[in-house]
Amino acid sequence: MDMQTSSLLDRLFSAGLLIDTGVDGLYGRSGAFEDVITRFERLIDRFGGDDNPEAIRFPPGMNRAHFEGSGYMKSFPQLAGTIHSFCGCELDHVNLLQCMTDGEDWTTEQKATDIVLTPAACYPLYPTIAKRGALPAGGGLFDLQSYCFRHEPSKDPARMQLFRMREYVRMGKPADVMAFREDWMQRGTKLMEQVGLPVEIDVANDPFFGRAGKMYKNNQRSQNLKFELLIPINSVASPTACMSFNYHQDHFGKTWDLKTEDDETAHTACVGFGLERIALALFHHHGLDSGEWPETVRQALWG
Ligand code: ATP
Ligand code: ZN
Repeated sequence: MDMQTSSLLDRLFSAGLLIDTGVDGLYGRSGAFEDVITRFERLIDRFGGDDNPEAIRFPPGMNRAHFEGSGYMKSFPQLAGTIHSFCGCELDHVNLLQCMTDGEDWTTEQKATDIVLTPAACYPLYPTIAKRGALPAGGGLFDLQSYCFRHEPSKDPARMQLFRMREYVRMGKPADVMAFREDWMQRGTKLMEQVGLPVEIDVANDPFFGRAGKMYKNNQRSQNLKFELLIPINSVASPTACMSFNYHQDHFGKTWDLKTEDDETAHTACVGFGLERIALALFHHHGLDSGEWPETVRQALWG
């Protein structure tokens, strides 16, 4: 597995699709790689655009207060990334430069700013929508895309530290929210079929931290709260999650006091596309030169 994954990364570097920065999971992308992502996003629009979602684009950093309120640190402290900056006086600056010159750790005096790196595209959305007041009749539907950060350095090109998630998020009554998720499991399968990718859908869990995390994982699985659409990238035996279908029940509704038009706590669900993973799946299955991909696939993306 290790040999296989490092060789896929090497092949992507050699082909110039990904560009090495010296840090595992932090890569530059070529024009050809980006073109595939752009075209795939247009295909997503064709499947989801008719529902008239409200499009919002947040930058890849979010309000630290919103991050703290979301409870992310309870569940995934190992993945979070915070933005720290130098906030000292001139003397502190002199000390900092001396530290750097001496090869010592100059980062210890960096102070937390009001921004943390976005861990999933939908996290900034819930407090933003709750601030507007109760949801309109029928609930809400949103279209998001953001670079996300997760501290999980790896030689597996499918596990990056900075990657993009495209998401649709539904808020409203439980039945509507669950129907949305069900619908997207079918759409996701059809969408991947159009670009010639083999898929399976399976129940899944998030990487909750620590011993208490085990209980959350089991609970998430037994209640079918998370499904993933899997496509082989590095290995056929353990295909990679390229889409997730998450039902949060009233978790974010309660956390942010998000209400339906009837003043009930809103339920939420999100459907996420891992854009880099999907691009990698396309390159893995159809070859590293997108100009040479099967005509049907080219038609679906560029047609
Ligand atoms: P995994 O179990 O593989 O770590 P996850 O369940 O934590 O993934 P989600 O939180 O559901 O992933 O994220 C939504 C989508 O983002 C995933 O379906 C996947 O396609 C993509 N994704 C998640 N983590 C990474 C990563 N480190 N690099 C690239 N894409 C990722
Ligand atoms: Zn989400």
